[in-house]
Amino acid sequence: MDDLKYGVRDKRGDWKPNGRIEGAPLWNWPPRLPKILAWLPGYLWPWNAFHMATALLYWFYIVPSVETMKMISWGWALWLYAVNAAAILVFYGIFELRYYIKRAQATRFKYNHKFPGDAPSDVFWFQSQNIDNFLRSFFITIPLWTVVEVIFLWCFANGYVPWVGWSDHPVYLAALVLVAPAIHEVHFFFIHRLIHWGPLYRWIHSVHHNSINPSPWSSLSMHPVEGFLYHAVALWHLVIPSNPIVALFQLHIAGFGAVNGHLGFDKLEVTEDTAVESHAYAHYLHHKYFEVNYGGDGLIPLDRLFGTWHDGTREGDAMMDARFQKKRERVNAKAAANQ
Ligand SMILES: [Zn+2]
Ligand SMILES: [Zn+2]
Repeated sequence: MDDLKYGVRDKRGDWKPNGRIEGAPLWNWPPRLPKILAWLPGYLWPWNAFHMATALLYWFYIVPSVETMKMISWGWALWLYAVNAAAILVFYGIFELRYYIKRAQATRFKYNHKFPGDAPSDVFWFQSQNIDNFLRSFFITIPLWTVVEVIFLWCFANGYVPWVGWSDHPVYLAALVLVAPAIHEVHFFFIHRLIHWGPLYRWIHSVHHNSINPSPWSSLSMHPVEGFLYHAVALWHLVIPSNPIVALFQLHIAGFGAVNGHLGFDKLEVTEDTAVESHAYAHYLHHKYFEVNYGGDGLIPLDRLFGTWHDGTREGDAMMDARFQKKRERVNAKAAANQ
């Protein structure tokens, strides 16, 4: 595909999409039904449908019996870890192999023209972004994802929380499934905003931000505190009446869905003239500029509300620069007052 029909490439070779990142049209006033209906298929397909499919596969083929889950044991916890790790190895591995190792798409639709594998850096273990990100994902974050999973399955199995049945409340549960990506967005926004606070950033979140030019393995490359808080989004289903399948869906939006923001490409070419939208640009800008786009791609407009939204345009740049300028002035004024 010709990516210059969809965006522009600068002198360095970095590509950026034309137009602005459009948030979900749910928040436009007055509401426009045709726009919402046009947006809905992209909301469900392919990513959220994939997360639901994996949740169902897990529930029917991977998750042990309720009887087994009444007692926490290493056996089924390690089994879940092994499956989670294998699933991420395959799922993220497909993107890594096709777009970063084989470079099937070269730099078409790629925001940053460089590939992390070509740029050794001292901030990473073994000076390699790939090895560092990979080890942190498999030996820190995926174990913590599994801890969250074991906690909620054990609570459901023991009846510590309500277990809403599909045959009793199908409409309620279907609505909860539709809202789950929004729960993710709100949870992620607030924990993410929190760990951008100076001391917490240096202690926790700087690990994730070492990857300024993210690639698939960067998605789950986190400090343990972040790895747990991020996946703990599924624990909301112990607070709101829910069902373990919906909780698994919520967990998979986090675990599997983390790759979206870190793909590095705007579109993933499938055939000569078809491509899948990655939804990666908003979070790519977060990795590039740090203090913009704390949420996802604008499903819930929290960044707009808090003035931290960057829509990928020049106006977005100008708003961000004005905000950074104000912040510098505040810091300088404070420093002067302390002298
Ligand atoms: Zn990220
Ligand atoms: Zn961040």
